[in-house]
Amino acid sequence: MFSYRHAFHAGNHADVLKHTVLIATLRHLMQKPPSLTLVDTHAGAGLYRLDGDYAETGGEAKDGIVKLMAALRPAQGPAGASTPALDDYLDTVAGFNPSGSLRVYPGSPFVMHQLMRAESRDRLKLFELHPTDSRTLSANIAQLEAGRQISVAREDGFEGLRPLLPPPPSATGSRRALVLIDPSYEIKTDYAKVAGCIQEQIRRFPTGTFLVWYPVIPRPEAHDLPRRLKTLCNQASRPWLNASLAIGQDPTNGPDDRPGLTASGMFVVNPPHTLKSTLQATLPVLLATLGRGRGKGQTLETAGF
Ligand code: SAM
Repeated sequence: MFSYRHAFHAGNHADVLKHTVLIATLRHLMQKPPSLTLVDTHAGAGLYRLDGDYAETGGEAKDGIVKLMAALRPAQGPAGASTPALDDYLDTVAGFNPSGSLRVYPGSPFVMHQLMRAESRDRLKLFELHPTDSRTLSANIAQLEAGRQISVAREDGFEGLRPLLPPPPSATGSRRALVLIDPSYEIKTDYAKVAGCIQEQIRRFPTGTFLVWYPVIPRPEAHDLPRRLKTLCNQASRPWLNASLAIGQDPTNGPDDRPGLTASGMFVVNPPHTLKSTLQATLPVLLATLGRGRGKGQTLETAGF
C-alpha cells in the first residue's frame, strides 16, 4: 500500500477530465447562496510542481494540462476553439501560475478552495492517508490561513465521510454537499469500497452530489464499477451522469513500452441539469486536443433527468 503518489500523475488527462467536471459542477451548485459542505475523501498533496522531480519522471502533464494549455492558450499563434467549461478550468490553473509558464498544478483541494465562498460559509473537509502527502497537504492548506473553513485529517476518507453526511443545515435550512471520491485504486478493494460508500451515502443523504473518478483499465473490478454505480442510482431513483475520456495509445511507444493510463471516467450522482450539455460541448474538444492514437474516444451517458 501507499506506493501511489499523485505527484507523478498531476495534470495528466485524467486530472483534466476530473477537474473540469468538478469545476463545472461546483459552479452550478454555487449559483445558489446557501452554504455547501465540500468533501474530498482522497485529497492528495493539494499542490504539485510540474517542473519537479516527480512530474518529470512520468511527464504525464505533457499529455494533459500542458498540451491543452498550449493548444487553447498558445503564447503565439491562433488558439484552438475552447468551451466555457474548459476556459473556466484553464483560468483556474492559470491562476496558480501568474508568471505565465506552467509550474504548479492545483489538486482538487485547491480547485475547490478557489471556488469556495466565504460569504456563504462553505466548508471544505479533506482526507489524505499517505503520511508524506498528508503532511504536505496540511502545510499547503495552512498557507491559505482559511481557519475553520478547511479541515485536513490523516484518516481513511471512506470512514471519515460517514459522520459528515447529511451535512449541517444552512441558514435557510437546506442541507447541501458535494463529495469527491477519488481513490488511487492501488488496492483492489477500493472498487468495492467506492460502490459501498455510494450505496450507503445515497440512502443517508439522497440529494447530495457525489463525483467518483475511476480508471478505465482491463481489470474486471474497474470495468464493473460504473455499471454498479448506475444500478445503485437506478435502484435509488437518483439521476446520474457518466463521462469518459480515452486519449488512446501513444503512437511513439514501442511494443515493449508500458502504455500507462490511457482512459478514465467520472461518474456523477445527482449531477446539475446543465452538466450534460456542458460535457456534450467539452468532451469533443478534449478528445480533439488530447487524443493520441489507437483506442481514443469519449462517452457520455445520463439517466434520470
Ligand atoms: N483528489 C486528488 C486530486 O484530484 O488532486 C488526487 C488524489 S490521488 C488520485 C488519491 C490519494 O488518495 C492519494 O494521495 C492516496 O495517498 C490517498 N489515499 C489512498 N487511500 C486512501 C484512503 N482510504 N483515505 C484517504 N486517502 C487515501
